[in-house]
Amino acid sequence: MNDCVFCRIAAGDAPAVKVYEDDALCAFLDIRPIVRGHTLVIPKRHAAALADLDAELGAHVFRAGHRLALAIQRSSLAADGANLVLNDGTAAFQTVPHVHLHVIPRRHRDTLRVALGFLLRRPHDPIATAAAIRGGIAALDNEDNPGAGPHEGADE
Ligand code: AMP
Ligand code: ZN
Repeated sequence: MNDCVFCRIAAGDAPAVKVYEDDALCAFLDIRPIVRGHTLVIPKRHAAALADLDAELGAHVFRAGHRLALAIQRSSLAADGANLVLNDGTAAFQTVPHVHLHVIPRRHRDTLRVALGFLLRRPHDPIATAAAIRGGIAALDNEDNPGAGPHEGADE
């Protein structure tokens, strides 16, 4: 059995609160979020570090992170911006050796909240948070394709 926790999450064999998924990647809430809505985007195919990651797949992961950042701004979390961060290698404080892109929602004047969140790393009602993010994804989909049916692909 694969001992990579993110591979197990991608396969549905380990618990995670997923907000988005397609054939090649999935996005789920960080278990120890810095702020509410802190999400990780991972390729489903294992790559420990950027050196192991197919560039096209990396571009797909970034595109999903880009879209998630916009979705979180549209969502009831009402972020004003985001930090998209990828820690590559232990020198850069990567702790889980499966490439992941952090999407960290930011608000104006939230510096103290982020500093505290960095210390506490407490979950914030994950089920409601994920529902809010999925709502933002649906709102974004609807803006791009007005009149199209509900978005499929989000999972829990
Ligand atoms: P990094 O320092 O970039 O490797 O960050 C790894 C991130 O993965 C941290 O923010 C952890 O809280 C998060 N994490 C570790 N295990 C899990 C898990 N099982 N489910 C969700 N997030 C996780
Ligand atoms: Zn893995």
